[in-house]
Amino acid sequence: MLIGAEPRAPYERPHLSKGYLLGTAPRERLPLRPAQQYRDLQVELVLGESVVDLGLERRAVETRTGKRFAWDRLCIATGSDARRLQGYEEALYLRELPQADRIRALIERGEPLQIIGAGFIGCEVAAAAVQQGCAVTVYERAQEPMFLILGTALGRYLKSVHVAHGVELRLNATSTPPPSARQLVAVGSVPRTHPGLQVDGGIVVDEVGRTSVPDVFAAGDGTKHFSPLFETHIRVEHFQTAQRQGFAVGRAMAGATEVYDEAPWFWSDQYDLNIQYVGAGLPGDEAIVRGEIGKPPFTVFRLRGGRIQTVVGFNDHHTVARARRVMEARKSLSSWQLEDPNFDLRRALA
Ligand SMILES: Cc1cc2nc3c(=O)[nH]c(=O)nc-3n(C[C@H](O)[C@H](O)[C@H](O)COP(=O)(O)OP(=O)(O)OC[C@H]3O[C@@H](n4cnc5c(N)ncnc54)[C@H](O)[C@@H]3O)c2cc1C
Repeated sequence: MLIGAEPRAPYERPHLSKGYLLGTAPRERLPLRPAQQYRDLQVELVLGESVVDLGLERRAVETRTGKRFAWDRLCIATGSDARRLQGYEEALYLRELPQADRIRALIERGEPLQIIGAGFIGCEVAAAAVQQGCAVTVYERAQEPMFLILGTALGRYLKSVHVAHGVELRLNATSTPPPSARQLVAVGSVPRTHPGLQVDGGIVVDEVGRTSVPDVFAAGDGTKHFSPLFETHIRVEHFQTAQRQGFAVGRAMAGATEVYDEAPWFWSDQYDLNIQYVGAGLPGDEAIVRGEIGKPPFTVFRLRGGRIQTVVGFNDHHTVARARRVMEARKSLSSWQLEDPNFDLRRALA
């Protein structure tokens, strides 16, 4: 039994924070899969039911309406929810379609928009709204936008891009504006966890998705999974990992032993920038730049012990894709090889 749904391939699904808000992605493209596909796969889809009890002892989940469904093996894929800010109950939180519709309507009317949080979602919404002619003010307590993953130099560059497009960025903000219904609060997400399982900033699972309870697996945003590549547990809140870890967990539930061992990868489109990131937010001790920061295409590698730990590329898809393969193959490259845009990183794989 699977609780929750599994996402489609990256790039196939428009995201609520860009294409849908900009009006370039139609509503029909938002559902995950056509219902017929589940029937073809002989998957029974139970919609409109919220599981309130996993039934770890009796091995049957119970829904809010009191229905029970027995399981032999259970997979929890209930994702995460937007982190709420106390006092901002009336504000907008972008997670589900109705909230995206409210933000879209506000943008279409050209109303001023305040955003709290200049992370991944806050920055994308700011870009979409300002491009539609809204006056946008963003409040962020860190010194740069997307600071946690970009760091100082790249964050400063991203700031300059938003400012050049007319976004008012209030960085190092020590207070937030008075609550209003025309505000988007985008301050991260909280995993949906369940009583009875080991939780540590996410449902703790191993490299094949096993939780602390026999026959109970978990996959996706709600988990903190063991990554053999990074040799630690990591929580990833992005599509490609949710999907591909999900595949691996499904296979493990069917008896396969292949572990999930990929480098997390995600991208963010803001204006004409495509920002791609590979890694798990772990610190590096050395930074190497390929190209020139501020003049896309360029990429920054962060290394630890000579191995690539994270990669951030601006309009530099090929470099990021190749570096990801190098990381997954656990290969090393010298500083000059990483720096030189003419050095094909795939040579490390030969
Ligand atoms: C606005 C926005 C923009 C994003 N853009 C990007 C992007 O550009 N790139 C990227 O890589 N990632 C992006 N993400 C992240 C990406 O959407 C998630 O990583 C991915 O959806 C996680 O998949 P999941 O299956 O783990 O969880 P979800 O997709 O959240 O699915 C969980 C499902 O479980 C259901 N559920 C929850 N609780 C219960 C329950 N008790 N009983 C039954 N069902 C339940 C939910 O209704 C939901 O359908 C974005 C996220 C948001 C919110």
